Amino acid sequence: MTTFALPAIVQPSVAIQGSDARFPVRRIFCVGRNYADHAREMGNDPDKEPPFFFTKPADAVVDHGATIPFPPETGNLHHEAELVVAIGTGGADIAKENARDHIWGYAPGNDLTRRDLQNDAKATRRPWDMSKGFDNSAVCGAICPVSAVGHPAHARLTASVDGAIRQDGDIADMIWPVDDIIAYLSRFVRLEAGDLVFTGTPAGVGAIMRGQTCTVAIEGLGEATVTLA
Ligand code: MN
Repeated sequence: MTTFALPAIVQPSVAIQGSDARFPVRRIFCVGRNYADHAREMGNDPDKEPPFFFTKPADAVVDHGATIPFPPETGNLHHEAELVVAIGTGGADIAKENARDHIWGYAPGNDLTRRDLQNDAKATRRPWDMSKGFDNSAVCGAICPVSAVGHPAHARLTASVDGAIRQDGDIADMIWPVDDIIAYLSRFVRLEAGDLVFTGTPAGVGAIMRGQTCTVAIEGLGEATVTLA
């Protein structure tokens, strides 16, 4: 048995719908520009610039219902409503036809973004880590097991701030559907049980202020709510 020089690190995890057990989080992958309307609102051409990946640390995950400190070093914190895919079986070079065999469940999520830092990073051709992978940046609702919800292909996806709808899309409008994301991502890295994949956001991203509550909802999958202290 390994002896550590410091207290062992707590395994990050997220709630599971209808269970006391928790889903252990290994890695968090995110897809950029996976809805054409959002790519256009950010000034990009979805036909010329296909989706791509970035990551967040596993311990950036936050449960539905949490209150988090307003993130430091930003004056423009944005919500991004997304479908989250939870991987239950690992694999590399997964064929699109087999992608569903690797999915454990689905959840609504909020890819919190320090948009001012992201815009600076784009302008200076620097990495996105500090704009995307900051503390508490991966809000994730309770994971709904495939055994309960199947593989949703169409579902309304919304983000609201203090009850006012800001984003209103449908997961059917992804440029890369979930099966394609898993097949493509698994060419670059081996996926393992415990990985979460945030699958991109539709148009309507915008700021959340101190004291506000942001709710991401996906029809049939529940909500992921976060309050900014
Ligand atoms: Mn996103």
